[in-house]
Amino acid sequence: MARPPRPTRDRDSAFFWEGLEQGELRVQRCMACQQLRHPPGPLCPGCHSFDWDWIVSAGRGEIYSFVVHHHPPIPGLPVPCVIALVALEEGTRLVANVAGVAPEDVAVGMRVEVEFHEIEGEDGWTVPRWRPVGAPA
Ligand code: ZN
Repeated sequence: MARPPRPTRDRDSAFFWEGLEQGELRVQRCMACQQLRHPPGPLCPGCHSFDWDWIVSAGRGEIYSFVVHHHPPIPGLPVPCVIALVALEEGTRLVANVAGVAPEDVAVGMRVEVEFHEIEGEDGWTVPRWRPVGAPA
């Protein structure tokens, strides 16, 4: 099976990808105003500070919005697949695929938790995925 496109890893996002490899969902935080943000970037959108660190999220939240993707095909991903914007308990949002539930059973407000999905054949490349709370892995 073809492999999905590999996300960009740069000096602003390396902490995020390294966290996933270690089983941590890391969220960037502004050191000046404490605002969380995702995706990672060099500048705080709230106060324009360049100083940042990160927190480790509990990896839980609820589906804020989602789409069921049918077309075009995405290399390495079966379709239809669910791509969700999840509101984390800590207060920012993160997009990732949803596993462990049929697309027709996904709903806004569904409680989900993160799982760390290692891409087969790609040493150390791990991506986050959402799974309904309590769904079997
Ligand atoms: Zn800030």
